[in-house]
Amino acid sequence: MEKFKVDANGFYGEFGGAYIPEILYDNVETLKNSYLKVINDPSFRDEYDALLKDYVGRPSPLYLANRLSAKYGCKIYLKREDLNHTGSHKINNAIGQVLLARRMGKTRIIAETGAGQHGVATATVCALMNMQCIVYMGATDVERQRLNVQKMEMLGATVVPVTSGNMTLKDATNEAIRDWCCNPADTYYVIGSTVGPHPYPDMVARLQSVISEEIRKQLLEKEGRETPDYVMACVGGGSNAAGTIFHFIDEPEVKIVLAEAAGKGLDSGESAATIHLGKLGIIHGSKTLIMQSEDGQIEEPYSISAGLDYPGIGPMHAHLSSIGRSQVLAVTDDEALQAAFELTKLEGIIPAIESAHILGGLDKMKFKADDVVVICLSGRGDKDMETYINTAFS
Ligand SMILES: *Cc1c(COP(=O)(O)O)cnc(C)c1O
Repeated sequence: MEKFKVDANGFYGEFGGAYIPEILYDNVETLKNSYLKVINDPSFRDEYDALLKDYVGRPSPLYLANRLSAKYGCKIYLKREDLNHTGSHKINNAIGQVLLARRMGKTRIIAETGAGQHGVATATVCALMNMQCIVYMGATDVERQRLNVQKMEMLGATVVPVTSGNMTLKDATNEAIRDWCCNPADTYYVIGSTVGPHPYPDMVARLQSVISEEIRKQLLEKEGRETPDYVMACVGGGSNAAGTIFHFIDEPEVKIVLAEAAGKGLDSGESAATIHLGKLGIIHGSKTLIMQSEDGQIEEPYSISAGLDYPGIGPMHAHLSSIGRSQVLAVTDDEALQAAFELTKLEGIIPAIESAHILGGLDKMKFKADDVVVICLSGRGDKDMETYINTAFS
């Protein structure tokens, strides 16, 4: 049964591990030896659960989307992570890791961010817990994501624009790792997805697993059974997907369907479909599939969705796909946009463009009338209004 979970060395099959510079060895080793003890400790649980309830607004509703269900000929439930404080699932992880950092005696929090969603979630929790917060962000992204930069600054974080490389997420991550190397004693690095060296992928998956824990309870109430026929989520690094599938992974009757961003198409050269197109390599401390050139240079991924254009993929998802436990769809910009407008018109919910990628996968599925399908609606679309408006009028 453990073939789906991480092993003692941080591997999911051939993927994962902890490929880190010598200077971080003690830090990562300490984290590895303490994360399970801390997050399973009853006093940590109490503090974490209380914040998830009263600060984030959990449990997030499991909503039966009637008109969407009618269109696709099955019973579709939306897990409403879009209703969380700060607008997505990312806050579940940020709260957990900052609490952990505090218990480890760290006083300084660093994070990297692409679109700015993880940066905002981390800055929010740092304001709440009165911790110093430094967020590394590619200079290109600082330009593109003004509003999130302003939010982080209002929350008291220092946003550091990174001008190396393409000045995007990969470069911000390199800079955050460099900072951590220089300040290993007092600094905790909050990673925003199921990526990076072990134990991050497993730790983030566990912190997000509250999603599937709640789905089981809510389905039992609504359907008289804890397990759906399908669980579906979009994958960038893989954290909302990991949280959505976590408590179903050992139950083969629950089918796992994920969607990655195909950008302008799998053959277009402009895509972020890492599981379809990536090759094995090492990125940010983890052995996984990576978008890379023939000679192993990391290629800048492309997606209309800033939250899905990471050049790697969480090792858990590389593994689950490689052994056939999950089915991974490639959904293009256009398919996601269409799905975003469809959900808005049918259900009155404007989804994040990331979440719209899994909705865009519905067209590719064949459901039976009595299938129960749970889709993680990872975030809300406020941040994507410009994209949506430009599409509608173009
Ligand atoms: C960041 C983000 C994602 C992608 O990250 P994962 O770690 O793959 O979940 C998906 N949806 C939203 C709304 C996001 O903000």
